[in-house]
Amino acid sequence: MTENAITNGHVVRTRGLTKRYGEVRAVDAVDLEVSEGDVYGFLGANGSGKSTTLRMLLGLVLPTSGDAQVLGQPMPAARRSVLPRIGALVEGPGAYPHLSGRANLALLEATGSDRGARAERKARIVAALEQVGLDPGDRRPTRAYSLGMRQRLGLAAALMRQPRLLVLDEPTNGLDPQGIQAIRQLLLDLNQRGTTILLSSHLLAEVEQMCTRVGVLDRGRLVLQERLDVLLRPTGLVDVRTPDAFRCASLLGDDVVRIEGERLVIRSDDPAGLNAHLVDRGLRVVEVGFHRPDLERVVLEAAAGAS
Ligand code: ATP
Repeated sequence: MTENAITNGHVVRTRGLTKRYGEVRAVDAVDLEVSEGDVYGFLGANGSGKSTTLRMLLGLVLPTSGDAQVLGQPMPAARRSVLPRIGALVEGPGAYPHLSGRANLALLEATGSDRGARAERKARIVAALEQVGLDPGDRRPTRAYSLGMRQRLGLAAALMRQPRLLVLDEPTNGLDPQGIQAIRQLLLDLNQRGTTILLSSHLLAEVEQMCTRVGVLDRGRLVLQERLDVLLRPTGLVDVRTPDAFRCASLLGDDVVRIEGERLVIRSDDPAGLNAHLVDRGLRVVEVGFHRPDLERVVLEAAAGAS
């Protein structure tokens, strides 16, 4: 049987995964499903349980109850065979402060099981540093690195084994806008080449720009898990922007759902037809298009519905 058949397409799958710290249910009966090829965005407010969940997947925290499977194998029991096949950045970018980035990666390589020839290892290190935008010739110790550079080095370490799955806790934390853009592009390239990515974030815009699927945690509970294109598909509404908003509203009557200044939301599934109708009546239309739900509202509604 192939690994895919065992996992049924799921690279990560949990059932009833729960972690309690005394009275606090940090993670509460979570059924997570990350499919092969996903860029899965794990969203939630501070303290909602994202890091604890990711740590349980990696065998760093033991669940109170429930099951977790990663690459089709039970965690933490199978961590010796699973961990070498995944890349992770969850504990914050730890590095030896007195060594350069390159020397840190060389140390990491030396402790790995798949060492290969010396030249090969060297090439892997240089490639990983270049992939994250760090200069392989930089000899400065990592204590001189900015937070963003440390974050990149942590990612380079996660990439060195060309993992099938990357697990990243807030990967763009501490990066400037250019850095965020570069890391986002890097993660999308890796995903195109077959790496499944599970990342946590509290930035909705970031998740909206790069993820294929989202899960939302609220006080330990998974209140939403869905493909992004399903969440954001057209709603049977059309947005119209016109300086003639009042005339437009009186013309369309009950089909108007709301008016916000020059913007109207209209019940319709035919923006082109609606545009032609308005222009025929002499109205000036600046913009017209499908109304898409805004992810922020979807997430807030999911959280509100759960409480
Ligand atoms: P953030 O975005 O702030 O990192 P998070 O969504 O990752 O938050 P967690 O760090 O998983 O959330 O924390 C979930 C809850 O569990 C919080 O209430 C936190 O205080 C609690 N918690 C986490 N680790 C421990 C611990 N070792 N001991 C006691 N409580 C903990």
